[in-house]
Amino acid sequence: MISERPLRIAIVGSGPAGMYAAGHLLEGPGGTFINGGLNQIVRRPVEVDVLERLPTPWGLIRSGVAPDHPDKKRMAAIYDSIARRQGFRFIGNVQVGRDVSPADLSQWYDGVIYAVGADDERRLGITGEDLRGSDSARAFVSWYNGHPDFSDLQFDLRCERAVLVGNGNVAMDVARILFSPISALHNTDIASHALDALGKSQLKEIVILGRRGPEHAAFNYPELMELGELADTAISVEGADLSLTPENADYETQLKVAALAKLCKEKSQGSRRIVFRFNAAPTAIVGGGQVAQINVVDRRDQSEQVLNAGLVLAAIGYRGLAIDGLPFDDVRGVIPSCDSRIVDNGIAIAGAYVTGWIKRGPKGIIGSNKKCARDAVTAVMVDVDSNLLPMEGTLSAAQVLEAINARVSVTLGFSGWQKIDRQEQSDGRAQGRPRLKMTATGAMLGLVTAG
Ligand code: NAP
Repeated sequence: MISERPLRIAIVGSGPAGMYAAGHLLEGPGGTFINGGLNQIVRRPVEVDVLERLPTPWGLIRSGVAPDHPDKKRMAAIYDSIARRQGFRFIGNVQVGRDVSPADLSQWYDGVIYAVGADDERRLGITGEDLRGSDSARAFVSWYNGHPDFSDLQFDLRCERAVLVGNGNVAMDVARILFSPISALHNTDIASHALDALGKSQLKEIVILGRRGPEHAAFNYPELMELGELADTAISVEGADLSLTPENADYETQLKVAALAKLCKEKSQGSRRIVFRFNAAPTAIVGGGQVAQINVVDRRDQSEQVLNAGLVLAAIGYRGLAIDGLPFDDVRGVIPSCDSRIVDNGIAIAGAYVTGWIKRGPKGIIGSNKKCARDAVTAVMVDVDSNLLPMEGTLSAAQVLEAINARVSVTLGFSGWQKIDRQEQSDGRAQGRPRLKMTATGAMLGLVTAG
């Protein structure tokens, strides 16, 4: 059975959460949502517009996942196949909250799913955080991945020691990229400006600060083990005795601590060194204009230590960014929701949903977004079936595009992105690289609009 009226849904953000939501909505043949029961399967035609503020899709797959993790980057192929399904439309270079408002979207569509990720970062809140040479790991990651908003940043790596604050997977990624051989990075899609800067690196030591003990380390086992694969790199631990890990620690913790101890034993020599410094909380970043040192306090005995460093990157977690016109939980950095429905003072806003990091906070792996997106889509469909969506005054696909184009001088569809994609791959081939990323929005839009 196929019901007639296509449901029109906007998804804001084309990262993993948004694309999985699109995939669930268009799961059935011919651009339909499948609502399965034991005796009856209802296929509902759906049209999905994915609105993206950049000209390029895939969110953190393109600008967050480390370039030397091609297996994770390959998730883009799944999103690409979703984007080719009937009923899917990509509208790039349109920013919700600036070019169009949530009120516009709720008028234009039957429902809107916000999948905008966590576009901000936590701050250390200590003096010296804004000195040259001190930045967030998020900025560093976006820079080496060629995100247009970060491509003009300069990271001077001609210093001996870098300090990473926080020991989660982002810190592992950054440490690995900093110490990876240039020849290996050349075979990835890392931004050319980052490849140049890394080629001039004089870093000899990376200190990874954990403010608590090893049993609370935030990295995962596979990401830790990848550091062990770096050639000519010693690994050591300071500020903790790994043999004292509590016996009641969970399996994952025991595994990680044992692996770290093994790495320290097996990788005691090398011209470069990665130091896991535990129980050390940063108190100040110091320097005359440029970072010269970071002060830390040992949380076991409150003794103070000074670490000379030319680069300090805070890898202490991401944070969601408020969107004008939507409620925001400033403490958690998320859009408040209940069962994926956006709530304002506890009351659900009809037809407005969230998924991904902007709903759950910046935790979990890419795959975590799959179930999260399914939950959001289920909430949409339950509300459709309960007649809770306005469903009147919805614009057609052509009318929406007209309304957006009246406000944004250049937007692009999926074929526009495909043009950028082809160009990047062909530029890459010319240099023996898989892809040469375009890093300026203007150049990308110029390419799309040129003949
Ligand atoms: P994270 O896992 O939340 O780790 C944050 C780290 O910063 C923790 O060690 C935390 O220590 C520390 N921290 C927080 N506030 C601090 C402060 N004020 N001073 C000192 N230290 C502070 O964050 P993340 O590394 O940014 O990763 C975000 C998410 O992306 C995670 O779910 C991660 O697994 C995922 N990710 C996955 C991969 C991958 O799969 N390869 C790669 C990158 C990111 P406390 O524990 O003491 O708070």
